Amino acid sequence: MSLRAVKGMKDILPNEISKWHRLEHAFRQRVEGYGFREARFPIVEPTALFVRSIGETTDIVEKEMYTFTDRGEKSLTLRPEGTASAVRAFVQHSVQAKEPVTKWYYIGPMYRRERPAKGRYRQFYQAGIEVFGDSGPFIDAEVIDMVVGFISSLGISEVEVLINSIGGPETRHAYREALLGYLTPYRAELCSDCQRRMDANPLRVLDCKVPRCAEIAADAPSILKHLADEDRAHFDGLQETLNVLGTPYRVDGSLVRGLDYYTRTSFEVLGKGAGLGAQNALLGGGRYDQMVKSLGGSQTPAIGFAMGLERLLMAMPDGPPDRHVDVFIVAAQADVRAEATLLGRELRDAGLRVESDLRGGSLKSQLRRADKINARIAMILGESEIEAGVVQLKDLQEQTQDEVPRTQAAARVHALLSE
Ligand code: AMP
Repeated sequence: MSLRAVKGMKDILPNEISKWHRLEHAFRQRVEGYGFREARFPIVEPTALFVRSIGETTDIVEKEMYTFTDRGEKSLTLRPEGTASAVRAFVQHSVQAKEPVTKWYYIGPMYRRERPAKGRYRQFYQAGIEVFGDSGPFIDAEVIDMVVGFISSLGISEVEVLINSIGGPETRHAYREALLGYLTPYRAELCSDCQRRMDANPLRVLDCKVPRCAEIAADAPSILKHLADEDRAHFDGLQETLNVLGTPYRVDGSLVRGLDYYTRTSFEVLGKGAGLGAQNALLGGGRYDQMVKSLGGSQTPAIGFAMGLERLLMAMPDGPPDRHVDVFIVAAQADVRAEATLLGRELRDAGLRVESDLRGGSLKSQLRRADKINARIAMILGESEIEAGVVQLKDLQEQTQDEVPRTQAAARVHALLSE
């Protein structure tokens, strides 16, 4: 039997990669424009990190983690998301003692053993940001505005921004009572997971995908009616700032999201266009003011979000055809191939991306190859060109051909590319 990639894990081959590069480059540029700096964390972390931060009763921790024992000693887990690692690193390196506000971004693979579907994989990529040290609400609005602007810059126009506040401990305590009061008569109708969640963390019932649970949750009292004064002021401040920025949003009191660590602001951006299907959540984020402390740091407010790159790619329009080389060198006779390699090096040293086929095929097959890989220029070198110190420069886009002194060849190509 031939070996295949693990179910739910995909190869990304070179013909797809330029769209990935475009997305990642645009993300870096956007967030660096707001002062974020890249951090890279290990893909494997102690299992306890995720259990303590994401929460024991979440789907991720209950069912989806790739956990293994390292040589019979330590329980390790492939990271299911990036925030827990960011907080661990923030605490471990005492970053809070070094700067008042910390802005980090990351890009990388995450692992969840979910049921694979279109837009849902077991290895998927997230790009995310975290801000430590600012309790908001202006930074919350700025972060939401930043990501909405970013998504629209990708050419994804049909999106909906949902925001909610899930309050702090005081709000959550009051709401928990109200929610339990509402859910208790339905207890027997809820799925067994939700029955357990009612005891451990009833808010999680609102996030359940089982149809009957979702139906019951739809009529649950809204957390927004239970916000403590300070949480209410924070949420009002967020909305006022979004209004000043002109960032469209909709308040959705049922948005609690699947991770336990959120406090106050929580938000999601949904893609509404064709191509995404059921998995239309492009990103999710929120404030997690208690997490740094709960992982051993000093009290530090924080907010972040993570976007699924595969889903953004599905929603993004295709760009221009991929061009990964500028010049394709064509050796007119088999015995000029050594000189063709030298010409290739000259052009690369002058900053051009150069390919050739040195196997000794016909002129026609080499030109076909140049076309196939969408090279802009075919540069033909034969015995007579070597003797005269020239090359034939064929512009495959404009369909023109010119003889050019070899010493000027690179400059001519640069000029054509910048036209
Ligand atoms: P979360 O970390 O669950 O808040 O997810 C943030 C974003 O990551 C989602 O909005 C999706 O875009 C993406 N995402 C989460 N899980 C998956 C998955 N299994 N496959 C692909 N993308 C995912």
